[in-house]
Formats: sequence, structure tokens, C-alpha cells
Amino acid sequence: MSALPEILAHNAAFVASKSYEEFLTSPLPNKRLVIITCMDTRLVELLPKAMGIRNGDVKMIKIAGAVVSHPFGSVMRSILVAVYQLGAEEIAVVGHHGCGMTGLSADAVLDHARRRGISPKTFHTLNHAGVDLRQWLTGFESPEEGVLASVELIRNHPLLPGDVAVHGLVMHPETGRLDVLTIGEAAKLEE
Ligand SMILES: [Zn+2]
Repeated sequence: MSALPEILAHNAAFVASKSYEEFLTSPLPNKRLVIITCMDTRLVELLPKAMGIRNGDVKMIKIAGAVVSHPFGSVMRSILVAVYQLGAEEIAVVGHHGCGMTGLSADAVLDHARRRGISPKTFHTLNHAGVDLRQWLTGFESPEEGVLASVELIRNHPLLPGDVAVHGLVMHPETGRLDVLTIGEAAKLEE
């Protein structure tokens, strides 16, 4: 059953009652921060509350495992737009314990896809087109490893300016406690 009818009914009431007024803010992030975090449902409300983040404070990018896997993919593009166009000065990659990307097996995902009707011909075609599905769909050994790999990719990106600090953290998905893995030091630019 689709969740959409209930969402649309709620939306009509929300707008009609002007419930949006408390959320009005500018598109520029007050805290000048970009957060890259996981799409895990437990973090939807918990993460902003546990970090003291309100509407208008940060640019929030949500992806499975908080993994930035491609230097020229849409996540890295979002980060660069936030930095160059929206005034972001800091980046925090926030993974979490108990992440579904921990030990994710490409074989299991592809097996599910097969059972949901994706034909062997499709896998064959993708394989021949040079798409490495097994590498693409593989997760990480631990959330810490995933966060640190993403931090490294962002820090070493050729288009990221040296005055942007990149931090790595891991959140506990029940208590919201943050463990700091690495604090980025922005290189001081010559005056
Ligand atoms: Zn996760």
C-alpha cells in the first residue's frame, strides 16, 4: 500500500494551516556546514536533534552508508556546489554504528534482483558494457572504515579548496552519541 495518499492529505493540511511559518529560512547554511550522512531511518529525526541542527543550519546530503564513492558523481558535485555557491566552509561525514552497508554483499543484492525479475540478459549486457556491479554494490567492513575512506576522497579532491575542513564522525543510532574519528584542519591560505 502506498504511503503517498496519506502524505498528500497531510501536506494539504500543513500548507493550509501555515505550519510552514516556523521553518522559513534562507537557502544559505547558517552554520556554513555540509553534512554527508546515511539514509538510515533511525537518523531521520535523531541526527539533527542530537547535533542541535535546525532548519536553515546545514546542507544535508543523505546516501546509503554516507559513502562518497565517486570523485565526479552527484554527491561530490553537491559538496562542491555547497562550498562554492552556498558558502559552506566545513564538511562532516557522519556514518553510524549498525549501518546496513556494513558487510553488504553484492551477491545477495544481485540475487534479490534476479528473483524480482531482472533478467540474466541484463546482467550480461551491463557486464559487457564494463559496469562492475559487484564492486559498485559492495559495502564496507566497518562504518569507521567507510567514513574515513569518504573523508580521504573529499580531502584529496582536486576541486576542493584548501581552506575547507573535512571531519569524520560516527553516530550511535539509538543514543545519538557521536564518536569523532578525524577532525579536519583547514590549511591556512596565505593572506
Ligand atoms: Zn547506514
